[in-house]
Formats: sequence, structure tokens, C-alpha cells
Amino acid sequence: MPLDQNLLRRLFGDRDLPGLRIVLVCPVTATAVRQGPESGTGPAWIAYLCPAHTLALPAWPGPLTHSAGLHLPCGTVLDFRAPEELLRSHADLWLSKLSGLSPEVSDGDWSDVLGQAYEVLSARLDEGDKGDGVEGGGLSGIVTMAGMAHRSAVAGNLFQAALSLCLAETLALRF
Ligand SMILES: [Zn+2]
Repeated sequence: MPLDQNLLRRLFGDRDLPGLRIVLVCPVTATAVRQGPESGTGPAWIAYLCPAHTLALPAWPGPLTHSAGLHLPCGTVLDFRAPEELLRSHADLWLSKLSGLSPEVSDGDWSDVLGQAYEVLSARLDEGDKGDGVEGGGLSGIVTMAGMAHRSAVAGNLFQAALSLCLAETLALRF
């Protein structure tokens, strides 16, 4: 059955959803949400969590409420923030760590930052296993999406760059 459009409108209003992110590997359906700060048109982000992760992540910001309407896997985050904020979140949460770049790079120009990340990750791929192993296969996907994100940022499309990093983030959960 298709998702009820009235439900989507009630939950999200007319807002675009620049990022549907998977930030945890957990097979359990979420029963609770934590919501980010109010952005004027709704919460900046909504994180869906199962009971175990609700308890395991007590330091996550945002009040805890019941997950209404949508049945999503634990670890799903609906991220409504502006593309620049979403890119900064990616840099802070995983991209800087994986690429070895200083987190302060996210204060710079995004086409530069993503270009540097792409180069570092590509070099790592060249040095490592290119076979079918988790390391080689997972890293190939991340490098591909980082390259796409860089290309979008150079073209001035930060919305698309943020979408590419959402996919790379899911692949990066293997590391
Ligand atoms: Zn969970």
C-alpha cells in the first residue's frame, strides 16, 4: 500500500527532505524519536530509535517522544537541515575521521573540502585491497559517492552533494 500522502504532509508539511540518513546498523523497528532543534517549520532532524538504542544513546540531543506514523528502522534520521549544515554534520560525524582530514576543513569552501576528501580516500583505495573484500568493496562505493559529492559542490549544487554523502555515510557504517 502506498504511503499515505496526508501522513507525510502532517509530519513534514511542505518541507523538502534533503537527507534520509542511516547512522546505525540495527534491524529493529524504531519505537521512539529524538528531534533536533525547532527550525521554524518543524524539527531540524528526527532520529528514529529502538528501545535498546534509546537507552544506549542517552546523550543524544533532543527530547524523546513516541514515533508517530512512520515505521522506520532504528538508526534512520530524517534530516531537514540546509545543505551547508548537512554537509557540516557529515564532516563532523564520519567524513573527517574516515578521510583523516581535520574537522576544521568544514569551515572552508565545500568544493575544496570534498575534493580533498575524495583525493585522500582515492589514495587509500589505491593502496589497499581492490578485490571483493568488505574493505575494498565498501571503500569503492564511498570514494564513488565522495567524487559525486565533489562534482556537485563544484557545480554549486550543495543539495545534491549532501544527498551523495548520505549514501556514502551508510556505506561507511561498515568501517
Ligand atoms: Zn536499535
